[in-house]
Amino acid sequence: PSFSSLGLIQPLLEAVERLKYKTPTAIQAEALPRALEGRDIIGVASTGSGKTAAFALPILQKLWEEPKGLFACVLAPTRELAYQISQQFEALGSAMGVRCTVLVGGMDMVAQSIALAKKPHIVVATPGRLKDHLENTKGFSLRGLRFLVLDEADRLLDMDFGPDIDAILKAIPKERITYLFSATMTTKVAKLQRASLSNPVRVEV
Ligand code: AMP
Repeated sequence: PSFSSLGLIQPLLEAVERLKYKTPTAIQAEALPRALEGRDIIGVASTGSGKTAAFALPILQKLWEEPKGLFACVLAPTRELAYQISQQFEALGSAMGVRCTVLVGGMDMVAQSIALAKKPHIVVATPGRLKDHLENTKGFSLRGLRFLVLDEADRLLDMDFGPDIDAILKAIPKERITYLFSATMTTKVAKLQRASLSNPVRVEV
């Protein structure tokens, strides 16, 4: 298939062209049409599959249709991955003026709080630091959130972020869309899936 046959809007078609993505990867071809229908998605896919664009493109498409407050939160297991995800959101959403902020440990809380006060559309975070901001940064909340992404869920759980994720799930609306991506489907991932997704479509590559 081509990107245009998957139902993406013009600004995003121009973005993938600018980034020289010629055809969708397998995970993108499978996940994008279902995500654009508004379904929750479980993606069994690892790094290099194009999974980041598979969740970023539908989020950006909905953001374009209905720009409103803090729109999406992506949880990632490591700082490096968080920055890579943020870069892809910015690259794909540059023509839309998307604002993205990274919240990871080891970086200055105050600088991150100042970035949050500028009202980003997308927050990419490691779970521990996000929980820290929920508890300690005045005026910051996830109450209007529309999308949650759990990226590399198997690694998130291996790194014992489970309790932080549980706390974050309590702070976000139940009425939302959730995408969970994982390289492997372990028992722990299945349990997180049941706690956080509703009637998901499973895509596997
Ligand atoms: P990911 O699996 O999300 O870490 O993506 C791996 C790399 O593939 C990233 O550098 C992306 O920019 C790139 N990429 C994502 N989708 C496509 C595509 N459809 N065609 C070519 N490259 C892509």
